[in-house]
Amino acid sequence: MRIVVGHLYPEHLNIYADRGNMAVLARRAALRGHELEVRPLGVGEPIRPGDHDLLYVGGGQDREQALIAPDLAARRRSLAEALADGAALLAVCGGYQLLGRFYRGHQGAELPGAGIFPHETVAGQGRLIGDVLIACELDGERWNVAGFENHAGRTRLDAGAEPLGRVVAGFGNDGESGFEGCRVGRAIGTYLHGPLLPRNPWLADWVLRQALAHASGSEPPAFEPLPDVLERQAHEVAARRAYARGGKLR
Ligand code: GLN
Repeated sequence: MRIVVGHLYPEHLNIYADRGNMAVLARRAALRGHELEVRPLGVGEPIRPGDHDLLYVGGGQDREQALIAPDLAARRRSLAEALADGAALLAVCGGYQLLGRFYRGHQGAELPGAGIFPHETVAGQGRLIGDVLIACELDGERWNVAGFENHAGRTRLDAGAEPLGRVVAGFGNDGESGFEGCRVGRAIGTYLHGPLLPRNPWLADWVLRQALAHASGSEPPAFEPLPDVLERQAHEVAARRAYARGGKLR
């Protein structure tokens, strides 16, 4: 099958090698006989319902976020329609923040969000930086996800919102709640860079399976596991660093 990805603002939101997530998805799709077509979506380029099986937004600093926030917020309806139609979504850090209700930076200016995730984000004193490990449960499967976080924003989930995972080591959404990321159906947002998917191959496969479900109009397919020898090693290294960083251990 062909999996069509809408990559939002690749010119603006692309720090910490977040584009590498696309490379991982393309390779893992190809190994299962599927083709990934990545279409960049810059400012003003429309999202038409049904066009994309997966939408992707990477990370960026406040300056880049300010450049695209009005455009992203104006897409509120088309994004919600795409998700209601069954498309999957993956958002990292700056993109994750702007898919909530708003992000208020240090200067006090409030950037509007697209309202996909039930959260709001306000920059606090000091940045939350370092390796991070979280425990996730997605559709009955439990996995640890490892990554690297670097954010000033503290993201508060609404009561009852579903996080992507619980913080095992590191800060997560706000350094206090023990929550990391957010999930709404086939949409997930997270602070984890690295990029995220090379060292968390099971999560890459989860995202691909959701996108394939949209592409085929059926349930997410089962995947044969891949050897993932290097991927598992990369995960272990990142997980060990997260434990060793001396941050919060839960
Ligand atoms: N500007 C945001 C913050 O510092 C996001 C940073 C990022 O994407 N790494 O909170």
